[in-house]
Amino acid sequence: MKRKALFLDRDGVINVDYGYVHRQQDCVFVDGIFDLVRQANATGHRVVVVTNQAGIGRGYFSESQFVAFMNWMRRSFEERGARIDRVYFCPHHPVAGMGRYRQVCACRKPEPGMLNDAQRDLGLDMSASILVGDKPSDLDAGARAGVGRRFLFVGDRPGRAETESGIDVVTRLSDIGAALEETGIAAARV
Ligand SMILES: [Mg+2]
Repeated sequence: MKRKALFLDRDGVINVDYGYVHRQQDCVFVDGIFDLVRQANATGHRVVVVTNQAGIGRGYFSESQFVAFMNWMRRSFEERGARIDRVYFCPHHPVAGMGRYRQVCACRKPEPGMLNDAQRDLGLDMSASILVGDKPSDLDAGARAGVGRRFLFVGDRPGRAETESGIDVVTRLSDIGAALEETGIAAARV
């Protein structure tokens, strides 16, 4: 049986998006994210972070700083009994990137490159997978990669909610739990 994933955007979904967050002292976790990841672990979904990190290309922080921060973030999840399986990031920006980071790439969302890489690396069934993002570009990337369930997390900014076909707008991460149950291990046994 093919594996399923819970794809998570990072800034605005895992941590509060203050803009180019890259230090642990600036990291505030979004309410419900640990429960959601624990639930995905239990339902057999691979938890895959897909994140645009143009702050690298812009020179605000380095790739090694990003990796160190993500290692700390993953340990923070592990300490709470939750597991992030993979992290994919795009360091590029088509205009503001410096040096080799300035390019029109295939990975910066809404391009689906990171999702396609995950599909290949992990052998994922994309139609049975779930994506959570806080921007339309996240959802567009998911649609292009064939992700079956796509959630726009608007948190306490319900004014941003737009109704588009194929997209569920949620104000709480716990609202995504039902989709995990429907597509997870328990559902597969039926
Ligand atoms: Mg975001």
